Amino acid sequence: MGTTSNNKYNPYDNVIATVKHAASLLGYEASDYEAILHPERELKVSVPVRMDDGSVRVFEGYRVQHSTSRGPAKGGIRYHPNVDSNEVKALAAWMTFKCAVVNIPYGGGKGGVICDPSKLSDGELRRLTRRFTAMIAPIIGPEQDIPAPDVGTNANVMGWIMDTYSMLKGHCVPGVVTGKPLELGGALGRSEATGRGVMITSLNILRALQISVEGTTAVVQGMGNVGSISAQLLHMAGMKVIGVSDVSCGLYCADGLDIPDIIAYLSAKRGNLLKDYQKNNVKHITNEELLELDTTLLVPAALENQIHAGNADKIRAKVIVEGANGPTSMEADEILQKKGVVLVPDILANAGGVIVSYFEWVQNIQSVSWSKEHVNDQLKEILDQAFQSVWDISQKKEVTLRTGAYLIAVKRVIDAKNMRGIWP
Ligand code: GLU
Repeated sequence: MGTTSNNKYNPYDNVIATVKHAASLLGYEASDYEAILHPERELKVSVPVRMDDGSVRVFEGYRVQHSTSRGPAKGGIRYHPNVDSNEVKALAAWMTFKCAVVNIPYGGGKGGVICDPSKLSDGELRRLTRRFTAMIAPIIGPEQDIPAPDVGTNANVMGWIMDTYSMLKGHCVPGVVTGKPLELGGALGRSEATGRGVMITSLNILRALQISVEGTTAVVQGMGNVGSISAQLLHMAGMKVIGVSDVSCGLYCADGLDIPDIIAYLSAKRGNLLKDYQKNNVKHITNEELLELDTTLLVPAALENQIHAGNADKIRAKVIVEGANGPTSMEADEILQKKGVVLVPDILANAGGVIVSYFEWVQNIQSVSWSKEHVNDQLKEILDQAFQSVWDISQKKEVTLRTGAYLIAVKRVIDAKNMRGIWP
């Protein structure tokens, strides 16, 4: 996974260590937090799909519910060749703490299917999604566990999930999944919400550090939903985006890249890659070089474990805002802290997506619809408040922003769990 061939990397170990650290700083006994170190429920399914050539392929899929202490499980579904059970467990747990730190009434869950969606036809993708949905249907639902998009899935896939679940129930159930197309009860502003949240959080941290936004340099790793919208909104906010990358390579321009032109190029045709983007003053660089650029802000918005023990020392960014889930390993965190790099953790920085998912679900279960302005205003309000709480506790306790975020989130989850008590 990621740019390293570090086979020992297990993101779930990362989660456990972070939670234990926060819980002990908060003064909890092991018996207070033992339960939240384990996912409540894990389902593994074998998904048979009739391929276009008539053959049958079986894909491995997962749905993990890490916690339902504060509300139904909530979290995306990832389609990627590197999906595995430890990754899905970690992603599910990160959702629990993400929902807790921004204080929306959800637990955490995540799903994944080991596949390469870029190599599947639309028909194959649809049949895979429908069969996977049917196989996880016993444990999902608007009051149990609500999937959403993640790496490799999008609004179309969510539409198929909604239809499949509704067909099985015999009536329309829009609240079973978020990130749907607008025509099927999707929320205005949902598709750009994670990137918008990254932008809001980036402006918040720059303000807190008294760094001006205008002309400040930014580098964004990843040109999927989160990376492309983040780059676009940071550019629109007045920052100079000097580097971006996708799976094929990175682009660099010291004077600032023409982000709208790059986005237009990437969206012109499915399969367009940055390696084929040619402009006079734009240099092609590797993903490794991109992460090590001299920049004020770095937004890793690709996959896990991109900043690790092998490259953390070479990072020259002053501020990192984690658009992806888990882009920084624990070892890297320590190295960055020693170097004085300020890092806004994933559970806060990329929470915009799940916050607007929450708005979508609220609209679905009440059969109401909100304007885009209302969505964006509420999103900003929640993120500003969460940022301020994380900033304040980190200053007060003299800990990193990641530890500060976990102090808030872990306390909310442990307290909810303990108030409910261990049943029976
Ligand atoms: N996949 C996104 C995340 O990691 C969004 C999850 C959701 O909207 O439920 O936060």
